[in-house]
Amino acid sequence: MPHPSAVTPRTQGRARERILASVVVSDAVYHRQATIFCPTLGEVRRSLARGNNQRMTFYERLRRLLEWRGEPGIRVLSLYLDIVGPGEERAISAAETLWEEAKAALDDDTFFDRVEEILDELPQEIVAAQTEGYDGLALFFCPNPPLREIFRLRFAFENQIEVSHEPQTWQLAYYEEEYEQALAVSLGSTLEVAEIHVGDVVARHLVRPSHGRTPEQEASTVVHRLLHDSPGAHLILLGSPEHRATFEDVLEPELRARIIGVSDEPLLASDPSFLRAIHRIQQAYERRSEAEGVRALLAARENETTASMIAAGSDEVVAAVNRGSVRKFYILQGFSECGWLCDACDRMGLLPVPPACVACGASVAKVELRPHLIQHARACGAEIETVLESEALENLGGVAAELHGSSQV
Ligand SMILES: [Zn+2]
Repeated sequence: MPHPSAVTPRTQGRARERILASVVVSDAVYHRQATIFCPTLGEVRRSLARGNNQRMTFYERLRRLLEWRGEPGIRVLSLYLDIVGPGEERAISAAETLWEEAKAALDDDTFFDRVEEILDELPQEIVAAQTEGYDGLALFFCPNPPLREIFRLRFAFENQIEVSHEPQTWQLAYYEEEYEQALAVSLGSTLEVAEIHVGDVVARHLVRPSHGRTPEQEASTVVHRLLHDSPGAHLILLGSPEHRATFEDVLEPELRARIIGVSDEPLLASDPSFLRAIHRIQQAYERRSEAEGVRALLAARENETTASMIAAGSDEVVAAVNRGSVRKFYILQGFSECGWLCDACDRMGLLPVPPACVACGASVAKVELRPHLIQHARACGAEIETVLESEALENLGGVAAELHGSSQV
């Protein structure tokens, strides 16, 4: 089976630039907030760190990881795991299978032993992350020079292992890009607005009463300013129905439209169950937008003028991915069809596996289509939607795509 790295390098450079850029942008955002809300950036960082140290330093951890380079010859293990589901067995056996595959290509006993120690600790990590409601883990490890980073992720990525002299971070770049940022407004006896950034970095803004204005009016001013700075961010309200109604009354309609979910409990960001409640609301929102996306796709397919812009089923979608014409890509979480992949030119096809690549004549291998479809679609800039459940998408063959117009290709 060709190693997934055969298709990842071309996305890596771009992803790295993007993620570095976003780290810089985030620092600028924090700096700007620092000048608005606090005297120094250091103070913002200290105030962030008061919540949960491990969560607050996502960008620093990420930057350290991106800057980490070993000499060629030094081995770094990069492991991504899908931990969705009640039990941890599936994730652990996936990790073991991946590791056996990677090991077969290596010759380094000391490294084997150290990695196996790490894998022994994995079950605890998985259970702890699942308890917190996370869907994925990214683990980076090198014994010498020492590197050990575990990121808990709200997305389930394809299970994947890489061993090279630097951490394989392109999936984290994708995570950063797709993370649904939000503002949570807690409307209890204390009014607080909390920004939730990628990696669950929470920046808290306490709303203080001011002369002649209600606390709700003050909170809406803070929300207005923060949402203006992050056009993609959503709004989440935490508080009793009465408190929420009072707040919504003073909120501008455009901001009201950005509310994606509510909770009756006025949880503050310092509350241990705060992030879990936010996750649930964001996940429910994602499920709703997936369903809406699939509905729009079906409607476009049934409409004569737009039908040619939709590919459905593995035959049409594989052809579209080979052409690089996918704009938005939908795939069921459980899609498990197999096909073939060219070892040289990355062309994909459906079964049966031909004796040689139909495009370039090189050798081909039988593969599970799902990870390769996702990687190829992502490499040509498509937005990826992994759909947990959808009868409609299942009826289309489990995979579908919106295509670029011929003039845009
Ligand atoms: Zn080929």
